[in-house]
Amino acid sequence: MSKNIAIIGATGLVGQELLKLLEERNFPINNLKLLASPRSVGKLLKFKGESIPIEKLEYNSFSRIDIVFASAGGSLSKEFAPSAVRSGAIFIDNTSHFRMVKGVPLIIPEINAEEIKKHKGIIANPNCSTIIMLIPLALFYKKFGIKRIFAATYQAVSGAGAKAMRELEEETKAYLEGNNYNNTVIGQPYAFNLFPHNSNMNDNGYVQEEMKMINETKKIFSNQSIEINAFCVRVPVMRAHSEVLNVEFSQKISVNTAYKILSNTKGVEIFEDRSNNKWATPLNVSGKNSIYVGRIRQDLSRKNCLDFWVVGDQIRKGAALNAIQIAELL
Ligand code: NAP
Repeated sequence: MSKNIAIIGATGLVGQELLKLLEERNFPINNLKLLASPRSVGKLLKFKGESIPIEKLEYNSFSRIDIVFASAGGSLSKEFAPSAVRSGAIFIDNTSHFRMVKGVPLIIPEINAEEIKKHKGIIANPNCSTIIMLIPLALFYKKFGIKRIFAATYQAVSGAGAKAMRELEEETKAYLEGNNYNNTVIGQPYAFNLFPHNSNMNDNGYVQEEMKMINETKKIFSNQSIEINAFCVRVPVMRAHSEVLNVEFSQKISVNTAYKILSNTKGVEIFEDRSNNKWATPLNVSGKNSIYVGRIRQDLSRKNCLDFWVVGDQIRKGAALNAIQIAELL
């Protein structure tokens, strides 16, 4: 049963979380190969008390590997997935490169696990904001049907990788000391600030992150007619994305029913202290596996509509955990 595993991007935020989770979940591993850029070759990473040296990612890195977890960026997935699949490995991709490719399953195990059977060597992990939005809506979708979703996101800096996180820390310190700081990854003032998501802008006025949420939802639910709109914002939070969801159902659902449905939804926890007006925050869900939901209310302006406050650790369920759950399904 034990598998030979390779992680591409083992030194990155998602790679590090994959290592933690593989250990935490006692994933049956025979051999573990850690791959990163030439900058990291020879560095050691700990796994189950053992020090494993980082190797350079190469076309022949995959001989006798059963499962590859890829998290080093879309262009590297594009370049290396074919060699991995030719060697007989299954390539579970955390980047956006293959998500919308026809024939590549895009999997959230709690929602569309059965699609995994259709894979031809590559399986895509959805975008982190998409996963965080869809996990709490899965059971509503199945039971009642969803007509329309509007999502406003409040996204953490760690979504842009380890360097962006380090830079926000340094920029915050510099700001407090009255010094200038040139933030290179995000490319605009970030400490004590926020801005519409900085992924590439499309001609339609939506950025890539927003289009990912729209297109991936249609693929995951296998439903091209679901109406979905998203507005993504980066906030100076280190880890865990928050979202406000406004969801229109095909019928009226009371707030009480919504809480009951959520308490039966896999991967979701209700997190709120209504009487003290306290709700899930990025700080209290960082490092956790579930998606936390609360502050559900009827939308006073529109029939059959509810609002939800949703917070999830995007490096865990939004990336590494979802990828490992896919491997567990396999
Ligand atoms: P990161 O912290 O910047 O890590 C990037 C990783 O890629 C590092 O291990 C880096 O190795 C490796 N890498 C860079 N160039 C390489 C090369 N030429 N050959 C081999 N490895 C190379 O980024 P991340 O946040 O983990 O994100 C990784 C991927 O996951 C991205 O595609 C991202 O979109 C996706 N993702 C991220 C999140 C998130 O919340 N961060 C969520 C979902 C999906 P070195 O250390 O040697 O440079």
